[in-house]
Order: sequence, then C-alpha cells, then structure tokens
Amino acid sequence: MTFIDNKEQSPEDGAFLNKENCMAAYSIREAFQEREKTFLSGFAVLSSATQGRVKPEKDCSIRTPYQMDRDRIVYSNSFRRLKHKTQVFLSPLGDHYRTRLTHTLEVSEIARNIARALRMNEDLAEAIALGHDLGHTPFGHGGETALKEIYSADFSHSDQSLRVVDVLDNKGEGLNLTREVRDGILKHSKGFGDIIPSTPGQTAMTVEGRIVRVADIIAYLNHDLDDALRSGVITCDEVPVVCRNTLGENHSERARVMIEKVVANSGPENGEFKLLLGDDILKAMTVLRRFLYEKVYRSATVHKEFVKAKRILKELFAYFISNPDKLQKELGKMEMADWDPEVDSIERAVCDLIACMTDRYALDFYYRIFLPSPQV
Ligand code: MG
Repeated sequence: MTFIDNKEQSPEDGAFLNKENCMAAYSIREAFQEREKTFLSGFAVLSSATQGRVKPEKDCSIRTPYQMDRDRIVYSNSFRRLKHKTQVFLSPLGDHYRTRLTHTLEVSEIARNIARALRMNEDLAEAIALGHDLGHTPFGHGGETALKEIYSADFSHSDQSLRVVDVLDNKGEGLNLTREVRDGILKHSKGFGDIIPSTPGQTAMTVEGRIVRVADIIAYLNHDLDDALRSGVITCDEVPVVCRNTLGENHSERARVMIEKVVANSGPENGEFKLLLGDDILKAMTVLRRFLYEKVYRSATVHKEFVKAKRILKELFAYFISNPDKLQKELGKMEMADWDPEVDSIERAVCDLIACMTDRYALDFYYRIFLPSPQV
C-alpha cells in the first residue's frame, strides 16, 4: 500500500490519501470506497451500496463493511474451531490432509482470484468464503447426516452457518454481518445439484456469492481428489480419462485450468453477469464429482468411519437431552449463550451445541462420559 504526499489529491483520483488528509476530509475507508467505484465492474457490489446490518453500526474509518465482516469471521471462535473439523478423512493423523479450515482458506483464495480477475468485489467474496462453512458439524458430512436423522431432515450446514453468524457466535450476540455476506453464506451450498444452477432462487443475490459457490466446488473437487490419492483410497489410473485429459494430471494444473476457464467464459449476457465454465470443463468436473462420490465419499474406507461418527453424535445428542444441566455447562465452555427454554427447544439447543463441536471435542467428551477411566 502506498501513501502519497500530495495533499491536493482527492479520492476521486483513485489514490490512497496520506494520514493528515484522511483526518481532514476523507477517511481511508471512504478513499477505498471511491476507488471501488472507479475500478470494479458495474456488476460488482460496491461496499458503499451495502444493504447494511440488522443492527446498524457506525462506519469504520479504515475498513469497508465487507472488510469488517471478513475480520469478524477470522477472529471468531467458530472460525478457529474449523481447524479440528473433518473435511473428508476423519481426524486425520497425516499432517498433509485437509481440514475444514484449510478447505475454507483454499475456497477463499480461489474466490478472491476469480473475483479480482472479473473485477468483482474481492473483499465481499473473501468474507463469504471465510464464513461459508462455519456451521459445519464435526465429522464432515457424516455429522451432518446424523443431525438430519436425529434433529431434523431440514438440517443443513449452510443454514447452520447462517445461524452461527446471526445468533450463536460471540456469546449469543452473533457477528451482525452485512446482508450480502449473510446471503452468500446461506446460498453457497450445492449438495449434488448442478455445478452452475439455473434456478434464480437457489443462487446468491450477488455475483460475488455465486463466485464462492463455484470456488467451493473447484476447491473440494481438487483437494478431495488430492487427499484421496494420498490416502490410497484411489490411484491415479482410476481417475476418469476425460478428467485427466481436460483438467490436467496434477492438483495445481487442475485448479489453474478450472479457475482460468471460469474467468475466460464468464461475462455479461442480456443485462446480467453469467458465471460459466465452458461445456468441456463443466462435463469433466461433473464426471470428476460423480467419481469422487462413488469411489471416495461412499467408499468403504471413508464410509465405515462416518458410521462410527454418526453413532457417537447420536449418543451425545440423547445424553444432552436427558441432562440439561450438562448442556448448559458445555454451552458455557464453548462460549455460547445459555439455553433459554422460552426461545429454543432443548433439541434445537443440543443440535447447536453438537454442530459447533470439533471432532476432537466430540470424541473427548464421548470418552469421558461413556468409557471407563483407568485407575492410576
Ligand atoms: Mg465448503
């Protein structure tokens, strides 16, 4: 970042102001926001045009609203807990396997690269990406399935991510994020749906939010394949030929091709900005995703661990329903708000507690409650 000495220069010149000038006329934040107007695409969301927060706040003198959201997410307890949450391989002992935290960082990098290349608001894309998986359960999708079965078929990690930033984190106060970031977090999830969905209601209200959805898919297709090869669950020869020919032979080549193709194929069409991958890349990515579901996520090696994890979460759920005092105690240890029976059912409160747990927290608690301690 360069600070200039020319005291006559204004934010309209697209330059940063020196400290004295900022104090006199414009804040650094305002200078950034003027720069956004000159630099970003007409389809980007300007931070000065945000639809704001549920609880209105004073502007920061240095950071735009989206930069503030990004920082709030990074400083949150929920973000730090991602380091001990499973991506695919449970509580991996190998140091090089992805966790939910490193997945999130990879999504953020990919989203920022695409957003910057398309002149969208990089700060908004980054904030959405960093927050998108905050509601992920312990033990990855095995944990999510367990909560669907025990708590509600409607449980989803994307709804839970929004609940985390709205009401669970910050000791029950939530993070009070902007509407655009909250919307992007809620709409990031794709399940096994189309990589580029065509139904308007399914997609984020901003191009930046839609970029995060694609970045999430690019990230997990690449790193889950990488981790599956590392673990020996699959071999290179098993990867479908169309994927190897179209996307490349290694992790960095595949990620680069996908990112470059999104940037090259996306653009305005009939007054809206379309994110597109190109038919050949979309087909190869769809084949790769189906391959991962069949050979990795539903493989005997991965699935048998998920079955064990589901059993642990089901037993913990039943334990807390029967022991509300222990529920309150654990909520306190997790720095979450006390359960208020007038606001939430006990099932809702237990679901929130379990969804917030890391793999190791759930395992440690399970051992303490259900397994005998040896006398020393
Ligand atoms: Mg994700």
